[in-house]
Amino acid sequence: MSYKPPNRAPGSAPPAGPAALRRANLSLVLRELRDHKVLSRADIAETTGLHRATVSNLMAELLERRLVREVGVRHAGAVGRPRRAVALHGAHVGALGMEINVDYIAVHGTDLSGRILVERRIVHDAVGSGPDGSVRRLAAVAGQAVEAMRRAGATPAGIAVAVPGLVDVTRGVVTLAPNLSWHELPLAERLTSVLGPLRLPVRVDNDANLAALAEYTSGVAAGTPYLVYLTGEVGVGGGIILDGRLLRGADGFSGEVGHLQVDPDGAQCGCGRAGCWETKVGLAALVRAAMPEQAYGLPGRPVPDPGERVSDIADGLAAGDPRMTAAVAQVGEWLGLGGSILANLFNPRVIVIGGYFASLARWLLPHAQDQLDRLVVAAPAARCRLVASTLGFGAASRGAASMVVSDVIDDPTAIIGTSPRPAPV
Ligand SMILES: [Zn+2]
Repeated sequence: MSYKPPNRAPGSAPPAGPAALRRANLSLVLRELRDHKVLSRADIAETTGLHRATVSNLMAELLERRLVREVGVRHAGAVGRPRRAVALHGAHVGALGMEINVDYIAVHGTDLSGRILVERRIVHDAVGSGPDGSVRRLAAVAGQAVEAMRRAGATPAGIAVAVPGLVDVTRGVVTLAPNLSWHELPLAERLTSVLGPLRLPVRVDNDANLAALAEYTSGVAAGTPYLVYLTGEVGVGGGIILDGRLLRGADGFSGEVGHLQVDPDGAQCGCGRAGCWETKVGLAALVRAAMPEQAYGLPGRPVPDPGERVSDIADGLAAGDPRMTAAVAQVGEWLGLGGSILANLFNPRVIVIGGYFASLARWLLPHAQDQLDRLVVAAPAARCRLVASTLGFGAASRGAASMVVSDVIDDPTAIIGTSPRPAPV
């Protein structure tokens, strides 16, 4: 995910040697197909600025590598010539995405075109198992998924694991995942070593980043190249897609939007600071305002299931409970205020809200959208819509699989199909 092919004018100077340029052009064509699903060679030439002859030549290599397939004929208007169309194929190339969280491991295996081959959620006590036990369990679950994918005819090109915490993506080290009690865990290295003979590259990333990628590739706003995703749990995290790419920052720690300080006189946050956005819009803030008798952290009370709390609030809202209605209006306004900071910074077309935000979207969104429209300086010229995610709990593992697909798209020559032919760029 390190090289972005430039959108060059035909005939402009190449950025590197011929092999690198050809790899970049193959990648450019695959990205267009990923974003637009079905295109003719002429469409690709038009959108990429590459010569028609170059596109035909690149397509020949992608067909040989079985990364694209012909999908019939498209007619451009009543008198236009019929054009042969192509789509991503790669049924023999697999991408394995996984997520580990406090109480489960989720698996999502696809082929290159996004066809789902494996999808599971396994109960797992991450804290009780300790880091070593969790790594062994992840490896066992990955091994079973790889077997299932191979039976379906796809060999995984890699594994990506989503983790709820700060991740050094270059080294594959989980710097800090407080809810898992992990600190400086070299997860990629450990998993690679336990997986041994499978010899699969392992990547690790933050769960909100990967959920954002899933929204971009297959969610409610799929294909929107400027998109922000917000997790809505007790904590609030964010993933930012700019120009169709995940924004990670210098160390991979971008997207800690829950700790934007929105009220210097506000309540103490779990991070030790005061007035962070998640103290206003996190699930704990909503429960405290909507059902104070069930607030988080009250002494002598068992911790109820977060899903139950959210469905209790949804029931109350549906019945018109005034305290809950006021609470959700207030949280909605803070949601719109924080969203406006992100919109003023990144100019996204869409902010997708996940987690409990999505469950209560019909009550939260009107307040949040009003506030957002009021506070975004470029509105209404650059309207940013808030929309509810439809991906549910599987978003992060789905995004992890998308990241493996992106790696293949970034360097399609790494896939062993047939030998690349020496050809002009
Ligand atoms: Zn904080």
